Amino acid sequence: MSLRSEHSRRGAHRAVAAVNSPASAPPGGGDPTAAVYAAEDAAAAAFPPRRYRSFAELRSHIDAIVCSDWWSDTFPGAPIEVHVERRSRTATFSAACRRDGAGIVWFVDGQHWNATAVCHELAHVASDSGHDALFREALVALWRRECGFLAATELSAQLGHRSIWRPTFER
Ligand SMILES: [Zn+2]
Repeated sequence: MSLRSEHSRRGAHRAVAAVNSPASAPPGGGDPTAAVYAAEDAAAAAFPPRRYRSFAELRSHIDAIVCSDWWSDTFPGAPIEVHVERRSRTATFSAACRRDGAGIVWFVDGQHWNATAVCHELAHVASDSGHDALFREALVALWRRECGFLAATELSAQLGHRSIWRPTFER
């Protein structure tokens, strides 16, 4: 299976993160992965994300997203079958990939049961890419749906401040 989208989140970076560069490296240099995390953290600090009380709640919410007309309209070609898996609390990262036409997302128990992590991992499934421009457009679209217009606008600004992306997703 492809590990392209597998990555750490606020933990030790794994070697697979290197797959994301240099193709997705910003023109001005820098680490797009770190910049995306920093932008998410800043936007989440301003607009605290929804949290899910249980894994069942997390999974049913993801099912609702990927089964929606919005998902297939916004991300034509993205899998509509997405498997949600648990990772132990001691795991250092959540992750996502595509396999056999389906998406698979893993969430660290507890701390990653929130809208920020859901948007991040589903953006990997939707874009089938690392932390490049396609991923970031998908991420902002998901934030707009899941966290609201203001939070998504803040995320766009934070990504822009880090000089890694000019928002083009303005619908
Ligand atoms: Zn990622």
